[in-house]
Amino acid sequence: MRIAIRLLDYLTIQLPDYLNEMNMKSKFETLAIHAGQQPDPTTGAIMTPIFQTSTYVQDGVGEHRGYEYSRTGNPTRAALETCIAALEGGEFGLAFSSGMAATDTIVRTLNPGDHVLAGNDVYGGTFRLFDKEFRRYGLEFSYVDTTDLEAVRVGLRPETRLVWLETPTNPLLNVTDLAAVAEIIKAHPNRPLLVVDNTFATPYLQQPLTLGADIVVHSTTKYLGGHSDVVGGAAVMNVPELHERLAFLQNAVGAVPGPMDCFLVLRGIKTLAVRMDRHSANAAALADFLAAYPKVGKVLYPFHDAHPHAAVARKQMRSGGGMLSFVLQGGAVAAKTVAERTQIFALAESLGGVESLIEVPALMTHLSVAESDLAVDPGLVRLSVGIEHVDDLIADLEQALDKA
Ligand code: PLP
Repeated sequence: MRIAIRLLDYLTIQLPDYLNEMNMKSKFETLAIHAGQQPDPTTGAIMTPIFQTSTYVQDGVGEHRGYEYSRTGNPTRAALETCIAALEGGEFGLAFSSGMAATDTIVRTLNPGDHVLAGNDVYGGTFRLFDKEFRRYGLEFSYVDTTDLEAVRVGLRPETRLVWLETPTNPLLNVTDLAAVAEIIKAHPNRPLLVVDNTFATPYLQQPLTLGADIVVHSTTKYLGGHSDVVGGAAVMNVPELHERLAFLQNAVGAVPGPMDCFLVLRGIKTLAVRMDRHSANAAALADFLAAYPKVGKVLYPFHDAHPHAAVARKQMRSGGGMLSFVLQGGAVAAKTVAERTQIFALAESLGGVESLIEVPALMTHLSVAESDLAVDPGLVRLSVGIEHVDDLIADLEQALDKA
């Protein structure tokens, strides 16, 4: 039996005028709920169906309806890819099975002898992939403080093909001036690509493509998913050839997310704007509280007045986000005590969920860089500030700090 509405029709179906208009001109919050998504034409279901299928029936040999095999393409994944691209202000989105899978796929566009200039406090797993794996394939990596524009300029080599940075960084919350770095790169004779990991900020707070980046990469595991229930990644770009190459690799390598995971990220994205507003408001209040607390040596929060990059952060970000780190005067022992004594802040890796998390980077997320130049202060505590009531969060930190 032939299904009444072909899958291709589902994809290319004419949007009602009001949705077409909306998709083109809408603001972020509206795009988050509607971009790439429309009511299912067969049933009217308002939520994008989870197309839990590996293959697609063909009408004749080689005559398919837009989809052949789910590693290559899946309608739930396509909806997510369209939505993330729209939010980043980009043309093309690609979804991956994790943030690291997205990173891995982008680096695979390089050839032996190529050089990557990376930020010197990129996520520990990114450093591990570069240093422990890709170096074996003849790629070269060097690391600079990308907040220092002169260091970026000097760090570029004739063989540099990618400049890879995060802003704000994990876990030090350093902020790089994206427009300024993009300008330096564009003036370089070999025009390397600028890749920005936008996981911490999310497209709601900052849109790197509009500031001159070539590729935006995400761990959708974090704020985009938003509920600590899925692992995923994404990349967004504007140049068709770059999209074609990365889509080829996405299919050839196969690190794709399943439809259920795509559905979860799509569902999370719908509330991204309201969640980020609350994450930022709570984190800003905690930064003020911690800055006034005697046992705390330093507070790292992009919009905090004492932050060395606060002016750049205010220029390119809507608000400071939900990530906050602080250094305890009591060092490693105090950091461990605080992290083990909080009751609402759960002791866990990862970030970006609605619930607050606490961790000690030197002993947890950044253990893989312990012996390197990227090692972090053992007294550093990182918070992923959730959307609980801020009074409860402050009270929880206060009772834990009292014991440190
Ligand atoms: N980029 C950043 C900034 C991260 O914090 C992480 C994970 O913590 C990743 C990338 C890797 O993402 P995933 O864990 O989804 O592979």
